[in-house]
Amino acid sequence: MASKVDLQIAAKTRKLGSGDLDKCYHCGICTATCPLSANGVSFPRKVLRNLQLGLKDRLMASPEPWLCYYCGDCSESCPQGAEPGETVMAARRFLTSLYDWTGLSFKLYTSKAWEFGAVIGLGLLVVLAFVIFHGPMVTELTPEGGVQLNSFAPVHVIETFDIVMGGFLALFLLSNVFRMFLHVMGDDRKKIPLKYYFSEIMTLPIHFATQRRWKDCEDPGLWKRHMVLVFGYVTMFVMIVGFLPWFQTEKIHPFWHPQRLLGYLATAALLYVTGYMIVGRIKKSRLIHKFSHSTDWLFLILLFLTSLTGILLHLFRVNGFPMSTYVTYVIHMAILVPMLMIEVPFGKWSHLAYRPLAIYLHKVKQKAAAVK
Ligand code: SF4
Ligand code: SF4
Repeated sequence: MASKVDLQIAAKTRKLGSGDLDKCYHCGICTATCPLSANGVSFPRKVLRNLQLGLKDRLMASPEPWLCYYCGDCSESCPQGAEPGETVMAARRFLTSLYDWTGLSFKLYTSKAWEFGAVIGLGLLVVLAFVIFHGPMVTELTPEGGVQLNSFAPVHVIETFDIVMGGFLALFLLSNVFRMFLHVMGDDRKKIPLKYYFSEIMTLPIHFATQRRWKDCEDPGLWKRHMVLVFGYVTMFVMIVGFLPWFQTEKIHPFWHPQRLLGYLATAALLYVTGYMIVGRIKKSRLIHKFSHSTDWLFLILLFLTSLTGILLHLFRVNGFPMSTYVTYVIHMAILVPMLMIEVPFGKWSHLAYRPLAIYLHKVKQKAAAVK
């Protein structure tokens, strides 16, 4: 495959957190070490090679960067300290910015002013919307002793906002996913019959829900913690976006009611894993926590604070503290909304779509090649 050379790639990925590409002399030890590099995909050495040579088209057409789960084994084995694991992570950030047609992703990844400005700006807009449009701040409690939250933030209004926001997220993410599809398939998309796309279609939901290739890494704890995190945010996302009238009630259900139990379990999962990751990154106790891009920190902190304000809000509501409930609700939304609007289509969270798609397209290509 012919590929145009872009000599700026190395500098760009350096900004995105890659190791020193000049250190790599292609001994291949990292690829031999990687437990996931097999079955026709070779990484991380090949990814580093594409970056060194500025082969942008090849990089964009290759699924390899998304097949890495960043276990860090390759970085430990590299005799040159070239940090191949971190470099593949930087390649994923670079690809995320290339798929994004708005150009926002690259700005958010490379400029702290854009990154923090976007979060703070969106958060302030949420606060302003509440200041202008909030309902009555009723201090009288419900017969069960809870706060009348739905007077302050009517559930049908918040639900409508959720749906509009969900549509916005889907529009940007899916358009970027489509661009990834075009790049990865290239000319093959005209040659590969549709039946192969259908026969492998289950790869998408399976890898989206389980990320099960990660289990093959040396430390299965990484995959287990990630699954706990997925349980937490998927449960919360489904309850908030899909079933808000069931979730945001004034009625105080008994502790064992599914609404409360699911909420507690999901919150505990989110707080545990994000707390664990934040402490790990502060201590730098593991190799994968040695380097932290500012976007890694922002994502973790936003997710942790969203969970923390969510549970505080709940405790204030059920224990009858009206003003604390209203104020915490606004703070909670002012963190949640920027986190979703920025991280899902333009940031770290977009990997939830790109990684299963890369695995799927790789399988489609493999299947088509096998019957040639
Ligand atoms: S990144 Fe390190 S281990 Fe991998 S090929 Fe380069 S020098 Fe060798
Ligand atoms: S970080 Fe782990 S999965 Fe990724 S390339 Fe290195 S060894 Fe393979």
